[in-house]
Amino acid sequence: MIKTALIHIQKQIPKGVTLIAVSKTKPIELLEEAYQAGQRIFGENKALEVADKFNQLPKDIEWHFIGHLQTNKVKYIAPFITLIHSVDSFKILNKINTEAVKNNRIISILLQFHIAEETSKFGFSLVSANEMLSTTDFLKLENIHIIGIMGMATFTSDSDKVKLEFKKLKSIFDSLKANHFEGDSAFKEISMGMSGDFQIAISEGSTMVRVGSSIFGAR
Ligand SMILES: *Cc1c(COP(=O)(O)O)cnc(C)c1O
Repeated sequence: MIKTALIHIQKQIPKGVTLIAVSKTKPIELLEEAYQAGQRIFGENKALEVADKFNQLPKDIEWHFIGHLQTNKVKYIAPFITLIHSVDSFKILNKINTEAVKNNRIISILLQFHIAEETSKFGFSLVSANEMLSTTDFLKLENIHIIGIMGMATFTSDSDKVKLEFKKLKSIFDSLKANHFEGDSAFKEISMGMSGDFQIAISEGSTMVRVGSSIFGAR
């Protein structure tokens, strides 16, 4: 029962932390069930899949993109996406801006940081993000709005390790806030925490948790 699972998760999430129900790979019927139970924010990681689900489901749903995004796929999500969590290069940011202009929208995004041990995970380092945020090419992008950062911890049962990685992400957020977004009250989101580690993430300052399998079952 998705409703029971949702209620169980919601009980563990304090006010002020947003629950993103990660519905990637799951059929429309399961999303409808979560919708009936009151969930309005869904996370997906494939452009065509989220566009298809957007078309089929009620329009008061907020769609968040959480996967690695290729430049040639941005056009499919730019008309409707609420937040892109996974911006990991200037190239993709520039493309999102171009598509946002075409759609006459300002698209909110998070910068993704590489905090895990695994080399396969995408993302900026603090150095590379600082560099990008200081370029004139970046400052010219008028249709994107950076409202925070995102990261994924190493997939491990070692909770001390996970905790350290989330602390690192929080310190990256604090540093960027001080150096680039000091007067910007919209820059406030730290998207960290999944089914296996969202309690730790919340204790380390997460404002958005992305929970999939604990709500919809294993993929
Ligand atoms: C799949 C995914 C999640 C959700 O993972 P679960 O372990 O199923 O909760 C969260 N974030 C990202 C980036 C994902 O790709």
